[in-house]
Amino acid sequence: MSSMDSKVSAIYDSIVKRNPGEVEFHQAVREVLDQLDVVLERHPEYLDQKVIERIAEPERMITFRVPWMDDKNQIQVNRGFRVQYSSVLGPYKGGLRFHPTVYSGIIKFLGFEQIFKNALTGQGIGGGKGGSDFDPKGKSDNEVMRFCQSFMTELYRHINDFTDVPAGDIGVGAREIGYMFGQYKRIVNRYEAGVLTGKGLAYGGSLVRTEATGYGLVYFTDEVLRKNLGTSFEGKKCIVSGSGNVAIYAIEKIQELGGKVIACSDSNGYIHDETGINLDTLKRIKEVERKRLTSYVEEHKSAKYIAGGNIWEIPCDVALPSATQNEINLESAEILIKNGCKVVTEGANMPTTPDAVHAFIEANVIYAPGKASNAGGVATSALEMQQNASRDRWTFDYADQKLKSIMLNIHDQCYNTAAEYNVIGNYLKGANIAGFCIVADTMIPMGLI
Ligand code: NDP
Repeated sequence: MSSMDSKVSAIYDSIVKRNPGEVEFHQAVREVLDQLDVVLERHPEYLDQKVIERIAEPERMITFRVPWMDDKNQIQVNRGFRVQYSSVLGPYKGGLRFHPTVYSGIIKFLGFEQIFKNALTGQGIGGGKGGSDFDPKGKSDNEVMRFCQSFMTELYRHINDFTDVPAGDIGVGAREIGYMFGQYKRIVNRYEAGVLTGKGLAYGGSLVRTEATGYGLVYFTDEVLRKNLGTSFEGKKCIVSGSGNVAIYAIEKIQELGGKVIACSDSNGYIHDETGINLDTLKRIKEVERKRLTSYVEEHKSAKYIAGGNIWEIPCDVALPSATQNEINLESAEILIKNGCKVVTEGANMPTTPDAVHAFIEANVIYAPGKASNAGGVATSALEMQQNASRDRWTFDYADQKLKSIMLNIHDQCYNTAAEYNVIGNYLKGANIAGFCIVADTMIPMGLI
């Protein structure tokens, strides 16, 4: 799979050695380095200036204790993280993930990807990420509040609207952001709305932020369909994995554009409904009632629930993995290819394993990496910061138009960069090269940072 030359290979080996056991981080670094051979031939200064080595080392990695009291008055202890990866382009920006699988390797992979994703948005935001191994599932609202308050009691000293601006990710939505913003405001005694994004509309949130990652993914994918296949979502059968924030709003926009989403999933299984997923039911179950997907089939007899199955076995035209990392492996990729899937665009971060990505590209399935296709969330977070700084509030349509134009611009950067390097339609190469060059070209004139 590798097209690394020996110098880059040696750099990669040293990164692996310096970050033992952090396999997701190694994977994310490798994805970028694998695409850089042609760039380093044109830009030897990147090697001379040790740009890769510098970017791969976070500016700062913070780890902290998060003690909190559960509803039975028992003390619980979790671990909190914030990686402040790169501030070359602006304040660190990236979400917080609360999930039991969180450890340094997950946070660093997400933070590393975020640097290039944020570069592609063109909005002057650096890369960061954070989270905790806390599991919000099955916790009461009060438990979640006490956890969030304790988490922020430590994190607050490392963030502010010019330094580092966290947002949500898996397990962190408007409820968690609200509790964290309340605690931040209380500690610093300043109404610094721009310190967190994904806030409620009543206290500085932006319209469209909730929808942004899913809508942005679909705007990007629509352009991929037009540009490469001369078609659109109209009449396409789609699979969107996950049933969280990204998945729900991707489904909404696909349906608006005339596509049919026939399956979605959670971590226990998936639902398959050939008549198309009913979005009102899905939203109520997941956003209001916070229930599992099994409830969906109780209301819709056309749907089947398959516990623990593989959602990618269902034939589709477009696959939009939007749950979590490494959810499409080689075996699933081969099934998708055999069943005639034409386009795979990532809503989640790194949902496709490297051998599966390779299989898609070899089979001429158009594949777009999350750092390009899911950038709509962070892009709209930057729009939220812009509104906070100017104490302005934009209409839904205005913010949505901005999001759409940013996504089309990201698409074109990837497409044109791939064309410039003679690999038309290769969004993997286009996204990684375009993102990397923006960071490298900004970093070098700043001296030894
Ligand atoms: P949510 O917490 O809202 O939803 C996550 C969804 O993925 C849930 O349906 C969850 O199921 C499922 N899921 C989580 N972990 C696993 C797992 N290990 N196996 C199978 N399914 C799993 O998160 P988001 O929708 O916000 O995030 C989804 C993905 O999109 C992540 O990769 C995230 O990094 C990425 N992303 C999110 C952005 C945002 O703005 N929110 C921006 C850019 C990327 P269950 O309920 O069973 O856990």
